[in-house]
Amino acid sequence: MSRVFYACALILALGLTCAQAQTSKAETTTEKITIVLADGPLLVDEVSEESDGYWYKRGNITTFIDRARVVRIERPKPPAEESSSDKDIVEGAGKWKLSDAGKIEEFFVGKFKKPLPLSAFGQSDLHTRWGWDHRNGMDVGLHPDSAEGRALIEFLRNESIPFLAFRGAVPGVATGPHIHIGNRSPRISSRR
Ligand SMILES: [Zn+2]
Repeated sequence: MSRVFYACALILALGLTCAQAQTSKAETTTEKITIVLADGPLLVDEVSEESDGYWYKRGNITTFIDRARVVRIERPKPPAEESSSDKDIVEGAGKWKLSDAGKIEEFFVGKFKKPLPLSAFGQSDLHTRWGWDHRNGMDVGLHPDSAEGRALIEFLRNESIPFLAFRGAVPGVATGPHIHIGNRSPRISSRR
């Protein structure tokens, strides 16, 4: 019994040592992580994600923040990976089907007193040309960092609706800034 306990404790201690070694290595870079909240950015040293929010560390103080208050997390770009377009894409996870679109429209009209600016609802010619199965997706022509875009993303996160928010064009994927609602589109299987 106690033998098992000590084995576990040892593994735990070793694990912690590894984690600490990694942390102190990361801390040698002075760049901070930004937690973007609805009411502004918050610069922090470390962030760890939980199911219902984030723990963040500033100096020696660790604080929990509710997921609903967080618009997104911005980590400093590693200089070697600037070519990756993923930095310009924000992603949210969850379950979705196109018939859920009504409640998003309802939210948007209620908040902004105008219809949701849809650029694609389900499959479009462009998606077919690019080879994406977009039958269960819809595109909203809003910049993710605009007031309307941020409000929409916050709503999608609160409702656990998956989305991909593009800050710019991605060749073969996005013509410009927009918010794709739904899971990542699968590739159209080659037709014969
Ligand atoms: Zn889309």
